[in-house]
Amino acid sequence: VSAVEVTQAHLDQIHAVDDKYNAFLYVGNESALDSARAVDTALGNGEAPASALAGVPLALKDVFTTRDMPTTCASKMLEGWVPPYDATVTTKLRSAGIPILGKTNMDEFAMGSSTENSAYGPTVNPWGDNRIPGGSGGGSAAALAAQQAPLAIGTDTGGSIRQPAAMTATVGVKPTYGTVSRYGLVACASSLDQGGPCGRTVLDTALLHEVIAGHDPRDSTSIDQPVRPVVQAAREGALGNLKGVRVGVVKELHSDSYQAGVLSTFDAAVETLRSLGAEVVEVSCPHFTYALAAYYLILPSEVSSNLARFDAMRYGMRVDNDGTKSTEQIMAETRAAGFGAEVKRRIMIGTYALSAGYYDAYYGQALKVRTLIARDFEQAYEKVDVLVAPTSPFTAWKLGEKVDDPVAMYLSDLCTLPTNLAGHCAMSVPAGLSPDDELPVGLQIMAPALADERLYRVGAAYE
Ligand code: GLN
Repeated sequence: VSAVEVTQAHLDQIHAVDDKYNAFLYVGNESALDSARAVDTALGNGEAPASALAGVPLALKDVFTTRDMPTTCASKMLEGWVPPYDATVTTKLRSAGIPILGKTNMDEFAMGSSTENSAYGPTVNPWGDNRIPGGSGGGSAAALAAQQAPLAIGTDTGGSIRQPAAMTATVGVKPTYGTVSRYGLVACASSLDQGGPCGRTVLDTALLHEVIAGHDPRDSTSIDQPVRPVVQAAREGALGNLKGVRVGVVKELHSDSYQAGVLSTFDAAVETLRSLGAEVVEVSCPHFTYALAAYYLILPSEVSSNLARFDAMRYGMRVDNDGTKSTEQIMAETRAAGFGAEVKRRIMIGTYALSAGYYDAYYGQALKVRTLIARDFEQAYEKVDVLVAPTSPFTAWKLGEKVDDPVAMYLSDLCTLPTNLAGHCAMSVPAGLSPDDELPVGLQIMAPALADERLYRVGAAYE
């Protein structure tokens, strides 16, 4: 089949089912077909394909800038904004010949765990019965699950790639911090944000990983190191032999408060790893218990600073100015009207945590916990090659069930946050359906910084 046929088939599927799922905020019919045509023409001229994924279309989370499509971060604040430049990730996708089908729905500015915080309505999980798809990257995960796209890109600040992957039975990877450029990725919390690949198989995800990773001088936190050999690792893993691989089950991420069906599915997954030859041990990471509290101080602190740029002056929304209002009034009214409730909540928490007199007690303490978590990981990785845990303590809940209870919502990030705080990498791979509700469960595999290939080896063996 040609790239145009594949792309058209996915556009058709988007148009057929997206009324139901709302996975896309924008569909780039013409630009996607243009890219596909360019791939077909180049191949027709006997040129080598630009990458292994040339002509395979993709869904892009609406937090990466695209100069030919709006970038809204699912916020009213950026409604209709077409950026003047492409993110580095966008540029890499284009150079690899990957047609971009459109921009996917998300929680506003990537804050949330259910994609219900979108200003453009929630995304619905294709796994049925009015369930949330997870968040914040629920649109990308749902697009994969609904066969609207074979590949997608997400961002993971505290779990937004992995948790939706778990809830939709897809694969999602948060690469090592600093290995995928944040240039043109609209910032949520800069010390935690990382773009990453999503797919329906581990190998697809690995191929996409190699396309988007790499040093970028335009991102000051980008690591100047070669791209990890994740495709090779996925191929090796697919042989199904984990002899010599040491797997640690994190004791603190296995609790009676988790859904019973999640625990039993996870335990069965661990047995599968053992049967593939892995040596499985239990590992304790005592400070992981404080990850949630630390994250929900560090993240809002960074958010309160990063989102100050939406000041109604430089870009995005501005409330009507009848000529009588002061600059401060316009800023305040625009931010009041443009941001949703969760974004405002976090700006307020962050502003408070950073303020004089409270900084040491809150932000400073949270940073100390962050260091202790990184130490727990270091000690664990002296004994094992990868750590495993459920990706989320629960399967997909009903739409609306937790919207009035932010803390209940935050609890779904329990298992994913430590990786972000340490700057490490992790994958969620489908582990089967929970016996109590027949909904997908994710197996989370974690590895140290710059050892992303371990995720793929173990993930592909397990898959
Ligand atoms: N659910 C987490 C939060 O609300 C993670 C978000 C993310 O990874 N972007 O902050």
